[in-house]
Amino acid sequence: MTTTQECCADQANSMLSTRRFGDIQRWSQTLIPTAKEAPADAEAPSHKLLVRAGFIRRVGAGIYDYLPLAWRTLNKISGIVRDEMNAAGACEMLMPALEPFEFFEGTKRDVDYGDNLFRLTDRHGRVNALAPTHEEIITEMMKGSIASYKQLPLNLYQVQTKFRDEARPRSGLLRGREFIMKDAYSFHTKAEGAGGLTETYEKMRTAYTNIFTRCGLDFSIVEAEAGPIGGSASHEFMVNCETGEDTILRCSKTGYAANVEKCGIGERAWSFDGEPSGDLETVPTPGMASIEDVSKFIKVKAPNMLKTIVLSIDAEHGGGWVVAVVRADHEVNEGKIKDAIGFPVAMADETEAKAAGFAIGFVSPCAAKTVGAKLVVDPDAAQGMDTAKGKPYFWATGADTHDHHVKRFNWRRELGDFLDSENTIVADIRNARAGDPSPKAAGATLTEGRGVEVGHIFQLGTKYSEAMGFLVQDESGDRNAVIMGCYGIGVSRTLAACVEMSHDDNGIVWPMALAPYHVLITVMKIDNEEHMAHATNIAKGLSEAGFDVLIDDRDDRPGSKFKDADLIGIPIRLTIGDKALDQGGVEFKQRTDTGKGEIVALGSITTRCIDAVSSQ
Ligand code: ATP
Ligand code: MG
Repeated sequence: MTTTQECCADQANSMLSTRRFGDIQRWSQTLIPTAKEAPADAEAPSHKLLVRAGFIRRVGAGIYDYLPLAWRTLNKISGIVRDEMNAAGACEMLMPALEPFEFFEGTKRDVDYGDNLFRLTDRHGRVNALAPTHEEIITEMMKGSIASYKQLPLNLYQVQTKFRDEARPRSGLLRGREFIMKDAYSFHTKAEGAGGLTETYEKMRTAYTNIFTRCGLDFSIVEAEAGPIGGSASHEFMVNCETGEDTILRCSKTGYAANVEKCGIGERAWSFDGEPSGDLETVPTPGMASIEDVSKFIKVKAPNMLKTIVLSIDAEHGGGWVVAVVRADHEVNEGKIKDAIGFPVAMADETEAKAAGFAIGFVSPCAAKTVGAKLVVDPDAAQGMDTAKGKPYFWATGADTHDHHVKRFNWRRELGDFLDSENTIVADIRNARAGDPSPKAAGATLTEGRGVEVGHIFQLGTKYSEAMGFLVQDESGDRNAVIMGCYGIGVSRTLAACVEMSHDDNGIVWPMALAPYHVLITVMKIDNEEHMAHATNIAKGLSEAGFDVLIDDRDDRPGSKFKDADLIGIPIRLTIGDKALDQGGVEFKQRTDTGKGEIVALGSITTRCIDAVSSQ
């Protein structure tokens, strides 16, 4: 019996064109070009499986067709994103992807993004860019629309195609040159308190947590560097999976997690003092370009070699050189060097550095003193004594002469008082790695995991509003630069990250929320009218309960249909065949079940499927 309320709701739904039923589609009427072989260049599991399962097709380097299955899943991701963004008080809009280039020049992002920014010249000779993100465009739009603090705060977002001319587009949708992103931008007159940036930032953090939880993803929230987008505080949302490109470090005690660029390292004891391990010995190392080559050639292990890197400070900050030194088995971290010296640095231009007197490729810490540079040394490299061995630390490094290195370098003997001058800084300037002391708890160490970055939130501050002159009047009539935040989600990358996280040898294993269809009905004999009628009826019942259903009505061998079913990864599978029908039902199996399917009576199928969803 239908209640009056339900009647009204139905009427309202039909008037508003909303629909509560799931979709029913037939395999023969959609395009799912499954394949046995993965593309030769594909390495990432998601790349191989999404192509093999007929979700995506390569058009060019980093450019893909989203075929019907992928588009369904992408719409489910965007649907969840929209729900949670709207619930968090953000408002959707759409900006153009094509933008006049001068916007990027104004904020210097043409330089920061470098070759990643797509540029194109139109018929009038005007240069345009294809947007990698939309800070400039939205700031310009807001500048033309908002004049007073009374109109703020606002948080606007879009789900849109982005373009980045990535140096190495690879791994299918994980790193495309054209990809789908949800990007949101918030605008405030203050950082703290009600209506301030940090309040919205926290709301976005919660919204993102809801989004990725609802998507069925196993993820971590990690502290991150802001990168070319700029700004201060920033967190990344990483899908945990061993095949991920990003390294996540976690404190074993506090739960603190950070990406490798951001993660600090706890206290490490250091001292330049200690007797030399012997006379300085110069050894020829002709044509040795890499640490590995030199290490092998001079028979010294990387932890006993100093890696010396020359960086430059830009003219705006007074110019000059920085010589950064880490142990050769460690990686230099430019962000940390910037924090240590207080100015942004960049790798030195080789020609200019050579002209200044640096023997690039063979530089030793002594070059800081002889050429004139700030010397920044990581604590693990600032060791006079090898305390573990109780003897002087054996160091090899460049000889400051082309094609030569030195053995038995000793800090105090080689650099003397320079080490005590203001030109020498000892600071954490390398990437953290597993086993390092935690920056958050004394005695705890860091562990390492891998992940795929699917979301990134930033407290931008006034970087864009100042550069673009977006000022609004405050309560006292003063005009101040607007404080901004920005919040991105890689929608197409999330689809691929989900596959990285959830697959087996036979194919994709979709979580219910992102599956293109919830239920796959495989009909064994498509020319049997009774079988097809059962499929249609079952699908109808399921659709009314909100399930999206795909009916495999292809004229194909059962074996190959089952293989495809595994490959495309629909969570619930119903098989209609004589054997089960003789017992009054159909075979029910979940994608994650390994054994035989169960027979479910025709009248109980929808209930059984609802049970399966609720027990997930
Ligand atoms: P990455 O470090 O992986 O290059 P990013 O930090 O430069 O990414 P953001 O500027 O933070 O990326 O962009 C927001 C989100 O857009 C990212 O968290 C990611 O999910 C997605 N994204 C960025 N670049 C790509 C790409 N080339 N292909 C697919 N998704 C991308
Ligand atoms: Mg990012």
